[in-house]
Parts: sequence; C-alpha cells; structure tokens
Amino acid sequence: MSSYVLAIDQGTTSTRAILYDESGMARGVDQREFPQLYPHPDHVEHDPEQIWESVREVVRGALAAAGADGAQVAAIGITNQRETTIVWDRETGRPVYNAIVWQDRRTADICRRWKTEEELIRERTGLVSHPYFSASKLRWILDNVPGARERAERGELAFGTVDSYLIWRLTGGAVHATDVTNASRTMLFNLRSEAWDGELCHLFSIPEPLLPAVQRSASRFGETRGLDFLPDGIPICGVAGDQQASLFGQGCWSHGDAKCTYGTGAFLLVNLATDFILSRSGLITTAAATPEGEPLQYALEGSLFIAGAAIQWLRDGLGIIETAPQVNELAARARPDSEVVFVPALVGLGAPYWVPEAQGTIFGLTRATGAAELARATLESIALQVRDLVLAIESDTGFSLQRLRADGGAAKSDLLLALQANVLGATVERMREGESTALGAAMLAALGAGLQDKETLRGWAQVERAFEPSGDREAVEALIRRWEHAVKTTIEHYKRAH
Ligand code: ADP
Repeated sequence: MSSYVLAIDQGTTSTRAILYDESGMARGVDQREFPQLYPHPDHVEHDPEQIWESVREVVRGALAAAGADGAQVAAIGITNQRETTIVWDRETGRPVYNAIVWQDRRTADICRRWKTEEELIRERTGLVSHPYFSASKLRWILDNVPGARERAERGELAFGTVDSYLIWRLTGGAVHATDVTNASRTMLFNLRSEAWDGELCHLFSIPEPLLPAVQRSASRFGETRGLDFLPDGIPICGVAGDQQASLFGQGCWSHGDAKCTYGTGAFLLVNLATDFILSRSGLITTAAATPEGEPLQYALEGSLFIAGAAIQWLRDGLGIIETAPQVNELAARARPDSEVVFVPALVGLGAPYWVPEAQGTIFGLTRATGAAELARATLESIALQVRDLVLAIESDTGFSLQRLRADGGAAKSDLLLALQANVLGATVERMREGESTALGAAMLAALGAGLQDKETLRGWAQVERAFEPSGDREAVEALIRRWEHAVKTTIEHYKRAH
C-alpha cells in the first residue's frame, strides 16, 4: 500500500490539500474558497471556524481524488497565509475574535506610534513597523475584546498565526506551536536569538503566556487526535509560511538561491543562508524554512503589489483582453519599434521605491500605439519591477544573481519569463510545479518525518523550462533606460503633486 504526504495549503482566499506520493508527484488535489469578511472599509477578517471547515473538506476531497485512505497518510505539512492573527481560549478552543487578516489596515495608528522604536524593531525582527505584521493585530484584540488582556495575562488564551491554529485543531488542542518562518512575521520574534523578544513584547504590551513554542520548519510538531477525517497518530512534521515554503519547494536551499512567485502581486525571496543582513533598500529580512538540527537560515524578501494585477487591469479595466493568457498573443503582435513604457503604480509604488502617492503612468504613446503595444509594455513592466527588486538585493548583499526560479499564475507566460531573463541578464527557470508552496510544505514534512533525505527531496523540485538571456543587448539596454527614466519621472511628478 503506497503512502502519501499530505500538504495543507491554507491561503488568503482558498484552502487546498494535495497528496504527494513517494516521488513527489501530486496524486490528489482539492481546493475550496471560503468567505472573506469586510466588516469595515479597513478591516479584513476570516472566521477561524470557516477556515477549519475548509481544511476538513479539502483533506477529504484530496483523499477521495487520490482514491486513498487516511491511514495511508504518513506525514502532514502545513503552509499558510502569513501574519494573519488568531487568539483563542485554551480551554474551549473557541476564538475570542475573528482572524485579523494580513491585509487589514485597522492598526495603522498603533504602528505609527511604534515608529519611534523603528531601529530596535529592525535590528531584532528584520521588519518595519507596519500593520501587515501580527504584533499590532494582536495588540488590537487585547485592547478591544472585553476581558482579553486579563485572560491573556492569566495564561487562559493562546495566540497563533494560521499554522498554529491548525496545529492546535489537528492535535485536538494538545500542541500550541509555530515554526520559525511564521514566528518571523509577527514582529515579536528575535531573529538573532531565535526566541520571542521579551523587550519588544513589553514595549508592545503583549503578555508572553500567549505565545506558541517555536520549532524548526521540518520537525515533529505533534500528531493528529480526535478528528473525523483523519485517523489518530499522523505526525505533523513540516510547517512554513507560504513564501518561505515556496522558496524551499523550489529547491532554493543555498546562499544566493532566489525565487519569484508571479501572482496578483509578486514575491521575490533570496536565501541568505546564515547571514543576517538588514536591507538598506526597504526590503525585509525573514527566517527561511530551516530543518531541525541545522543553523537558522535567513532570506531577504521584496514584494510588488502589482504584477499579474496589471494584466487583470488590461482585462477588467480596459477590456482589451478577455482572459489573462490572451495578453501573450496580443503582446507578441506589438510593433518592435514601440517605446511605450507603463509604470503600473496602480496602488502606489512599494519596494524598492516606496512612494505610496504615485499613480500609474503610460509614456511613449503615438498614433501607431494600440492594445498590442500596451500589452507588451505591461509584461515588460512586471519584469522590470522584479529587476529593480533584484538590484536592491544585489546592493544589500553584494552578490550577483545568476539564476531566478519562477512559479505562480503569471509565470505561465513564456514571454514574461523570456523578458525577465533578458532584463536580468540571468537564467530564469520555471518550475514543473506551478504552485511551489504546497510542494514545499510536503518536502518539509517528508524531511521532518524522516521519510526522505535531503538529496532525494532535491529531485522533487524539477525545472520545467529554463529561459536564457537572448536577443539584441542594445535594445534591452534601451528598454531598461526608458523604464528607469519613466519611474524617476513618475515619482517626481507625484511627489510634487502632493
Ligand atoms: P494569486 O495566487 O495571487 O491569486 P495566481 O498565482 O493564481 O495568483 O496568478 C494569477 C495571476 O496570473 C493573475 O493576475 C493573472 O493575470 C496571471 N496569469 C494567469 N495566467 C496567465 C498567463 N497564461 N499569462 C500571463 N499571466 C497569467
């Protein structure tokens, strides 16, 4: 009877479960969306019960799709939306408030107050004071849910990111734990001492009895108990936040290995091995998924708000394509002499420019410009923004990137990845597994459970196609110059306008 590793991928809008066989092939998949709650314009919440319900359903669905029995699951890996904050009662298991989702902006004021501690926060956690991370969300719950603070001080409540909450539920309330990658997104975890930072907890008024035990990403977290969809005793052996799981799942295990996930936004992470480097370009330092028995590894992370979202705008805002993949046929028809540059600052400019007041701009329109030229400029803008993140990483670390691995929906575009290789002057490798997060969680679980060794697991991260820099270097240089000038002009314009 074959055995499987079950990956639970608990994302922001949907939950997936995938069963991987002993060679790392997906044999059964199921996915469910769950409700997004917007009780106020700045608030984004999830009902933890609905998250849990979606997990139960997709695990059942994946087992059915593989024709497998729960008893065949040898280990469980969890990967999750990061930073989302849940506080629950240790006695009843009931959350005291909905999950506050990473996108939620209600704690902007709290974070502004904490700006006075910016240097301390950066030195200790690798992060910047921002509502995105868990600490201010946890503080908000303690300040706003009647009785929560007193109960937290008495040790009656537990805080966790979604991984912690799922570990708690899967183990029947026996285990309150998280992994280093999720801990590193809370703004409470000291990346150098690898422990909760007492001084930061004190500054932020967070009672320490709330906090989970922190383990390596591939280690034994606990066993299933009392579930109606899986038998007792299956070990949970792999846990990592989504982007770190993706870095691991793409085999980026050594110093300088980098990956970019091209989804709605884009996430670029580069493995720093054991070098704790703080960015001077507004990127953040975070823990990379690290197996038990190895020194903690770090990663630098830069993200773009708008990547595939720019393609969605062509579809939904302009209506020049009907489906996202059509952008490729359209862009392939662009006139080669077009000098259109699109700066897709549709929600301001994030890393590495940090100009929130910027807006989108299009340069270089002529009477010959049409939808095709705009489609091409859109794909170029994604590749060029990623290049700017890569330049920031190179300036922070002093190394030069030779290879970038790629996954996510927009990485299906051959044209985008070919452009990416050209503007980076580096090889871009598209992975066989289009979504490496679940694969990474499964790899961590297989490693943590001792089912596979690292060398065998390396073979699970397969490259589907490599894109090398090609074509006319001069044209690429001219494109880069036009882009740099356009970004500079856009920034100047909107800074002056505000
Ligand atoms: P997320 O996980 O952020 O929801 P996905 O990884 O599913 O995103 O990627 C979705 C994005 O990929 C969309 O913005 C869409 O525009 C883009 N996309 C999907 N297929 C293609 C394609 N064939 N070519 C270019 N872009 C694509």
